[in-house]
Amino acid sequence: MTQSLPAGFHAGVSPAGGAVQVVVVGAGPYGLSVAAHLRAAGIRVRVFGEVMGSWRHAMATGMFLKSTPEATDLSAPEPGGRLEDFCRERGEPVLTELTPIPCTTFVDYGQWFQQRYAGDIDPSRMERIERREGGFTLRLNGGERLAASAVVVATGLTGLARLPQNLVHIAPDGLGPEAPLSHTSQHRDLSRYAGLRVAVIGGGQSALESAALLHESGARVDVLVRAGRVRWGERPVLDRPPVRRLIVPSSPLGSGWVVKAVSQAPGGVQVLPARARMVLLRRALGPSGGWWLRERVENIVPVHTGRHITAAHVGKDGLRLELSGAGSGPRELVVDHVLAATGYRLDLDAMSFLCPHLRATVKPLAGSRAPRLSAAFESSVPGLFFTGSMAAPSFGPVMRFVAGTAYTARRITARITRYAPTP
Ligand SMILES: Cc1cc2nc3c(=O)[nH]c(=O)nc-3n(C[C@H](O)[C@H](O)[C@H](O)COP(=O)(O)OP(=O)(O)OC[C@H]3O[C@@H](n4cnc5c(N)ncnc54)[C@H](O)[C@@H]3O)c2cc1C
Repeated sequence: MTQSLPAGFHAGVSPAGGAVQVVVVGAGPYGLSVAAHLRAAGIRVRVFGEVMGSWRHAMATGMFLKSTPEATDLSAPEPGGRLEDFCRERGEPVLTELTPIPCTTFVDYGQWFQQRYAGDIDPSRMERIERREGGFTLRLNGGERLAASAVVVATGLTGLARLPQNLVHIAPDGLGPEAPLSHTSQHRDLSRYAGLRVAVIGGGQSALESAALLHESGARVDVLVRAGRVRWGERPVLDRPPVRRLIVPSSPLGSGWVVKAVSQAPGGVQVLPARARMVLLRRALGPSGGWWLRERVENIVPVHTGRHITAAHVGKDGLRLELSGAGSGPRELVVDHVLAATGYRLDLDAMSFLCPHLRATVKPLAGSRAPRLSAAFESSVPGLFFTGSMAAPSFGPVMRFVAGTAYTARRITARITRYAPTP
């Protein structure tokens, strides 16, 4: 897909005649990395959103990253911005594959990275983006309006939570920690359920780690996993013999040739036929629990595999859940709360800050509601770029992880600098 960027870029000025050429929406790992590269290339850029906002507000206290330190680097335009550089500067011990990284450390690293490479960030929320002649007009939650020649959407999974539709009726007044049903992204503190009965739905890291945290803070937890088994990561071996490394190569996202290929060559994934890409997206790097979490869950928290909820009723004694599926285990559970760790849906229509007309103009990838992207992450609307999970259907599963930031930031910056000669 080749296309021209908005006309303003050729002249090196924004269509509004103001200072902004590029707006980055979101200040998580992707937004910060893209902003760092754009600034280093001399592009005028403004970044909106709370720095590492998702990691501060949409994850429960006590969580750790599943990825290893080398898969957790944000992308700086020059050496010195890796997680290990941050730890060294702080005088903290060197992290290895055997060191689960606390989310709090990752937040601190993101803030350090922002100050070094990404410059000032405006914490305002982007409320509306519209297309206009030669670019975009944008409105912030405080009412400020601005124009930009290009917009990079880096809002991560915000607003994209997926819920089991057959359960939403149990929370008629809306979802949340105090309602009978919530999504994992709505929690900071799972200790509020101490002494209560909680059913956790899902078999990935988020479900299993939430279950461990709930159990450790005194809740009675049951985990319901639709699949027939739970997959656990393998404890890394630091000094593997060379032959073993050849047969099963390691990569920042795990071991094996497929994982290595998808994590190191997202551009190769992009040119695969659509069906092959979708299979990769579903199968490679699918739901699993981190190796270090296993001892906190297995034989400690009841995990019912091959079980899903077919109906739920609000009764006097709590929420009555009817279960079915090929696995063994209970046919019914009575609980006080259902926590859905059921992931996220990649749906342009859920990105409410893009005005309806703009959403309708962005061409989706066949068979999905994610945007079709060029090799430079640009959508069918010239100057509108998407990063992170929204780019995963195009570039493969690495885009669901921090490890995809370097490829993304370089590609977008190369595209934009081609059209925006620095003064
Ligand atoms: C529980 C959990 C654990 C995870 N663990 C790992 C892990 O171990 N390793 C890994 O690589 N990945 C992990 N991930 C995936 C992780 O989300 C991504 O790798 C990474 O955070 C993606 O970065 P991002 O910048 O795309 O999105 P985010 O980190 O979600 O950042 C998006 C930013 O955009 C801001 N924003 C959203 N909407 C607006 C708006 N309208 N206006 C302004 N700002 C806005 C948000 O506040 C946020 O700061 C995990 C995800 C979850 C949910």
